[in-house]
Amino acid sequence: MTKPNGALLALAACALLGCGSNTDAEDAGTGAKYGAGGDGSGAVASGGVSAQPGSGGAAGAPAAGAGASSSGGKSASGGGNTSAGSGGSAAGGTGSGGTSSSGQGGAVTIEHPPLDCGPVGYAAEDAGPPSNRVNYVIVGDGYTATTVETTLKQHIEVMLKRRFEHESGQPYARYRKFVNICVLKAVSDNDGIGNGPTAFDGGNGGDRLAKVNEKKVSAFLDANLPDTLEPDWRAVVLNQDKWENTGAHLMLWSGGNADAAGAALHEGGHGFHQLADEYGGDGSDTKEWSEVNTTADATKTAGKWDLWLDVVQKGLNVPDLGATGKQSVFEGSRYKDDGQYRPSDNSMMNSLFCRPSACGNSKADLATSFNAVSREQIVFSIWRAVKPIDAAIPPAGAVVNPAKLQVAVIDPAVIDVDWSIDGAVVAAKAGGTFDVTAQSLSAGVHEISATAYDNASEDLVRYRKGECQASVQGDYCHATGWKNSTQTVKWSVTVP
Ligand SMILES: [Zn+2]
Repeated sequence: MTKPNGALLALAACALLGCGSNTDAEDAGTGAKYGAGGDGSGAVASGGVSAQPGSGGAAGAPAAGAGASSSGGKSASGGGNTSAGSGGSAAGGTGSGGTSSSGQGGAVTIEHPPLDCGPVGYAAEDAGPPSNRVNYVIVGDGYTATTVETTLKQHIEVMLKRRFEHESGQPYARYRKFVNICVLKAVSDNDGIGNGPTAFDGGNGGDRLAKVNEKKVSAFLDANLPDTLEPDWRAVVLNQDKWENTGAHLMLWSGGNADAAGAALHEGGHGFHQLADEYGGDGSDTKEWSEVNTTADATKTAGKWDLWLDVVQKGLNVPDLGATGKQSVFEGSRYKDDGQYRPSDNSMMNSLFCRPSACGNSKADLATSFNAVSREQIVFSIWRAVKPIDAAIPPAGAVVNPAKLQVAVIDPAVIDVDWSIDGAVVAAKAGGTFDVTAQSLSAGVHEISATAYDNASEDLVRYRKGECQASVQGDYCHATGWKNSTQTVKWSVTVP
């Protein structure tokens, strides 16, 4: 097994700094922060709702703040297309979404204003309203007023390309609409690390570790991020080509290195997903650590990945290729050759190098993917920060004789919606719009509910229920993350 020389030391820093949990779980409520609410929407209300396909319908009377729009229909381009903030009474003040009348089924997503990354930032990924997204904030160090527009953007592009276009970046492509990425163009006096003072004093932190002045980074983020954006995941990209990276709460990677894109994925594995390094080193260690991808239990994995043993995970981009191969217990992990075990022979958290050239779809390259255990943990840690439903339209609660009900979800390709009447599912995987009129309900009050949930297969997520293992408590507990991936809203519908 080739030792990832640089990465070895990179995670030593992670261990020193504790790799603490930084998942700022947000309470995303049921549409309360979005435009769909008649009340309670308030200052954060934004955007409308886009429904497609489905029969087009006029957007209904939005009050100030937000409207719903309905585009689509089998052939219609029509439907209302009410932009945010239009219409409504001045006295209303709060975002009150209109409703549209598209037919049953179809994908419903919330419309939102362009992601605000602050006065010196730009949105590398505008996935959705930041109150219900993972917000990944990257700031550059060692880029001048000129090179923040050139070199910095190139370094970000390289990182994004591997993150979304290559198998080894999965499952980020599947969850692309769940993660906003803001890049902040901090300006340094000198171009490149090591050529004189820079905005955050980036440089060598010992061996192959990078370091910055974290107080300066924090102060810069505080001064330049809008109040609407609370960062969940923080990184500094350094303008240098050295192999110096650090995986900690504030992750650092060198943007100009040939393996920079892999380094950003690897360090993010530490920084946001709390994954351990999966390579060994001299000595023995029989402690059961909290990270889910290393264990001292070669038989049961201390409950961390026993459901994955002997599984060959399919590729997500390339299903017929097996990514990191059969999942098992391979001795050598978390800096020790003896006593610690990892889930796959190679992986992104072991030797991340994507060589010899362009990171193609060869099996050799796939060996550097996140393994099944890490991928599952990535999914869970994303779900800790978000909930499936961006808005319920109309808001959950009592409704009189609605023609239809809607839920806007983060990504209809990832999230399915089941609709129930009085406790019985009447439309499974039926999309975001439910045609109430078509149900011909009897007069009286009926409870209609929409349950939205991640449609991940068993090939991606296996730990779906149960108690936390003693070995994986707190933020590492599988069940803690996955429980957020299902959300139900209910309406009490009066039919005259
Ligand atoms: Zn590492």
